[in-house]
Amino acid sequence: MKMLIAGAGPAGLYLAYLVKRQLPGWQVRVVEQNARDSTFGFGVVFSERALEFLRADDPQTYDAITPAMETWTDITVVLRGTPVVIDGIGFSAIGRLKFLQLLRKQLETAGVAVEYEKILKEAEDLNSYDLVVAADGANSTIRKTADFGTTITPLTNKFAWFGTSKPFGTLTQTFVQNEAGTFNAHHYRHSPSMSTFVFECDAATWARAGFERMDEAQTLAYGEKVFAEALQGHRLVSNKSIWRNFPQVRNARWSVGNKVLIGDAQRTAHFSIGSGTRLAMEDAIALAKALREARDDVPAALAAFEAARRPIVGKLVAAADASAGWYENFAEHMKLAPREFAWSYIQRSGRIDPEKLRRIAPKFVAGD
Ligand SMILES: Cc1cc2nc3c(=O)[nH]c(=O)nc-3n(C[C@H](O)[C@H](O)[C@H](O)COP(=O)(O)OP(=O)(O)OC[C@H]3O[C@@H](n4cnc5c(N)ncnc54)[C@H](O)[C@@H]3O)c2cc1C
Repeated sequence: MKMLIAGAGPAGLYLAYLVKRQLPGWQVRVVEQNARDSTFGFGVVFSERALEFLRADDPQTYDAITPAMETWTDITVVLRGTPVVIDGIGFSAIGRLKFLQLLRKQLETAGVAVEYEKILKEAEDLNSYDLVVAADGANSTIRKTADFGTTITPLTNKFAWFGTSKPFGTLTQTFVQNEAGTFNAHHYRHSPSMSTFVFECDAATWARAGFERMDEAQTLAYGEKVFAEALQGHRLVSNKSIWRNFPQVRNARWSVGNKVLIGDAQRTAHFSIGSGTRLAMEDAIALAKALREARDDVPAALAAFEAARRPIVGKLVAAADASAGWYENFAEHMKLAPREFAWSYIQRSGRIDPEKLRRIAPKFVAGD
């Protein structure tokens, strides 16, 4: 059996590894448009149980990645300079590049080398493969080659993904205001010496601030000024840090013929719930399992994959949409007092009700 995987992000790398390990007779080819060791963004955060979903079935990968992660248990919400700590909510984080390198190393142990700097085009002849996997992200090219019933809805907020040399102690959400409007930064440490720093604002603030006329360096300088109190003298660092509107990608069909969508190509989950990477890897686990169980019957495997996975993905996507909706209106929420604001923030995705919060964040609930 011959499989082509487009994209060497978390979904593509992990699927290739699992399939090669579980179905050694399969030929697995992975192509990636970027150069080796080049990627966008900085770190990614994993909420709650982090990589626990890997531990039982794939202790090798779990053991390879976990020691490279930064971990902490609190969230700090800072409203106009006033911090409120929400205790007891665990996270771990890792640099995106580091994470991809570790996944690639795992894949190499299974005998597969990624073909870098190879862009799959829409016109590519894909008929010689038994299975073509679109793991090529939110702007998937493979997805455009068949009718998956794709919708892409851009959120109205603008965001840009930076890093900084300041290693923050917890996952921090900073909300500030200046003459142009209101800004939010999501920031957390992803290595002992670096943090991720994603900042966003609404479209009207973006226009008033004049970002349209600024290049990346000017945007960075503006961000350093707006978030000076959080950065405490540290600089921001850019890496393809252009302004974007987060695209909410959905697909009515996950497979057409011999093509299947996984990861962000299949659906995106807003970055504020820290689940996109885990979802991408869980897709890989579910697809590898379906392929193994269907014994070379690809259509049966693809149907089983979608039937098993759609309800789980649906729940997470609903939580991500609710969280994204909260951020789309964060200027309005900023009218609350700091503690009420933190309550509103922590309940935004509908996954944490007051009862659960009382259990996991007793200090915050008690007002300590
Ligand atoms: C600002 C921001 C912050 C985020 N923070 C987090 C976070 O904290 N935690 C989290 O879990 N998730 C986070 N995410 C989401 C996370 O990055 C994605 O969900 C995850 O990377 C999806 O993995 P993937 O493998 O499906 O796609 P990607 O990681 O996008 O990988 C797709 C790969 O395909 C390649 N490719 C694309 N087109 C082609 C082509 N035509 N030919 C060959 N190769 C191609 C790309 O170069 C890329 O390497 C964040 C996203 C954003 C935008």
